This record gives sequence, C-alpha cells and structure tokens, in this order.
Amino acid sequence: MNDLQLDDFKTDENAAMVLLVDDQAMIGEAVRRGLAHEDNIDFHFCADPHQAISQAIRIKPTVILQDLVMPGLDGLTLVREYRNHPATQNIPIIVLSTKEDPLIKSAAFAAGANDYLVKLPDNIELVARIRYHSRSYMTLLQRDAAYRALRVSQQQLLDTNLVLQRLMNSDGLTGLSNRRHFDEYLELEWRRAMRDQTQLSLLMIDVDFFKTYNDSFGHLEGDEALRKVAASIRDASSRPSDLPARYGGEEFALVLPNTSPGGARLVAEKLRQAVAALKIPHIAPSEGASLTISIGLATMTPLLGTDCRQLISAADKGLYLAKHNGRNQVGIE
Ligand code: GH3
Ligand code: MG
Ligand code: MG
Repeated sequence: MNDLQLDDFKTDENAAMVLLVDDQAMIGEAVRRGLAHEDNIDFHFCADPHQAISQAIRIKPTVILQDLVMPGLDGLTLVREYRNHPATQNIPIIVLSTKEDPLIKSAAFAAGANDYLVKLPDNIELVARIRYHSRSYMTLLQRDAAYRALRVSQQQLLDTNLVLQRLMNSDGLTGLSNRRHFDEYLELEWRRAMRDQTQLSLLMIDVDFFKTYNDSFGHLEGDEALRKVAASIRDASSRPSDLPARYGGEEFALVLPNTSPGGARLVAEKLRQAVAALKIPHIAPSEGASLTISIGLATMTPLLGTDCRQLISAADKGLYLAKHNGRNQVGIE
C-alpha cells in the first residue's frame, strides 16, 4: 500500500467542500453567511455556469449546490454534464429551485440530482443535507480507495509468489531448474507420457574430469565453467516442454517430452559438440585439451504402474557407457 492510498484513508469524513453554482451573487452571499460559522465546511461560489465543471474539477467539492435557472446555460444540462464527467460523476448534487414543482423536481432527479431544495432553504436544513451528502460521498471515496489498495496489494502478492516460485525452482549457480523441480517435472511428464503413450527421453550429462579441473584452476573457475556448460544445455532445449536442470554437482539433466530416441540423440550430439566448441582450456585427459561432457541417453514409453526412476537409471547406464568408452560422447544402453 503506498502513501497516497494511506492518505486517502486518513481524509476527514466530516469535512465538507461545498460548491454553489448560481448566477445571483446575492444567493452566493446568503449561503456563504449561513455556512460561515459551521466547523469543517469550506465554501466556494461560482457565478458563471460555464466555469462550473472546470471549477468543480479544481476544488473537488464533496457537495454541489446547483441553481436551475441561469442565463445562457440550463441547470439541468449542467447536472447531466457533471454526471457524464469522470471527475464529477459521483459528487452529490443538491438542486436549488425557486419553486416546489413536482415536474421540475422529477426532471432534476432524472438528470441525476441527489436532492432538491427550494431557495432559500432554512439554514439548519441546508447544513444537515450538506453534511449528510458529503459524508456519504466521503465514505464512497474511502471505500473505492480501500478497494484500489486491496487490488494493488493482491497484485503485489501474486508478483511476489511468482518470484518466490521461480527462486524455489531454480539452481542458484546456473539458473537452471534445481533438483527439486527436476524431480517434480520428470514425475509429471512420466505420468503424462504413460497416459498418452508417448515417448519420454532423458539426457544425463556429466562434465568430464571435472575434479581435475577444480584442482587445477580453483573452484571459482570451476563454477564459471559450470555456468557455461549450463548455458549450452539451456540453448540445446528448444521446445517449451524441454526442461534443463542441474541434477547435482557437475551433473546436469535434460528432460525431453514427446521425443523419439533419434530426436534425443540429435539433441545430445549437438549439445556435446556445443560444449566442446566452447574450447574451455583443460589439462585432462591431456595437456592442451578442452573441457568436454559425457551424455547418457534413454527413451521410454512408460508402462502402466511403472516409475520414472527406471528412466533415470537407464540414462545413468548410458552415461556409464559413455565414460567407460572414453568420455566426450553419447552413450545409450
Ligand atoms: P568423470 O570424468 O569421471 O566425471 O570425472 P570427474 O572428475 O568429473 O568426476 P568426480 O565425480 O570425481 O568429480 C566431480 C567434481 O565436481 C567434484 C567436485 O569438486 C566438482 N563439483 C561438484 N559441484 C561443484 C560446484 O558446484 N562447483 C565446482 N566448482 N565444482 C563442483
Ligand atoms: Mg564428472
Ligand atoms: Mg559426476
């Protein structure tokens, strides 16, 4: 909630701002005198009906006293104009008429007036009606401000929840999905693939000789290398449903829903080449080498009552094969 809206709540609901629109200065003077000794009532007089709307917008009255018969501009026309203008449409209007005439009265209410008084009304009655209408208008403004503030804070809460959700799901070092989110997502996609009987592919990715890398270049350089590998994995996941994740340490995973073994193999091979093309200098397996990754690949169409751990385990076996056969390659069990 910001300061402006707090101020809206604090406005004095007993304070009234009266705008009298009447071509006769004498009426203006009489009403001014009648209100002069009232606490909390400010009075403004407008003798030119053509200035009424602009003056109302400027002084923001809580009640308008509107004369009906004025030269040049009909009072009822003005009442309709107040009602059509967004800045004045809810301000209570008390029409001041010269006579008690049911026809004029009904026309005034039809145009949008809230009350009707015959000039010059008794002061006690005038003050009572001003206070009544003014207070109900202030209550309306406060309620609107409260709703606005509520909407703002609800939106802020939604925004905060989104940020929290994103933080909760992402890995701090690489910005990829973390292990927790990976587990949830794989489980979800496993069940979807089971329902739809579609192929679900998984890549398990492990950086080659990374312990040596850390030992030679230090952990900060190691972290930087992990970030670069993570960026390549992010680039390799082209579909919105693909999920790149940090599985733990220097191991990553890429979930590929609705992807055939051939398609997954293409993604894996492209990724392997992309990391090699980064040409991150390394000393293993030999001096002058570049950092590489090994990838294990598995694809399954889940059978009823099976578990996604099967898929992880199969991809792990593929990864073991890739390491065993010399690293920097894609292994499929
Ligand atoms: P292999 O080719 O068989 O995968 O050998 P490796 O050295 O990569 O495998 P190993 O599992 O022995 O070592 C993994 C290393 O990854 C150990 C650890 O120092 C490093 N590591 C794990 N997490 C992080 C991390 O967040 N930051 C850094 N800098 N290093 C990490
Ligand atoms: Mg490794
Ligand atoms: Mg490892």
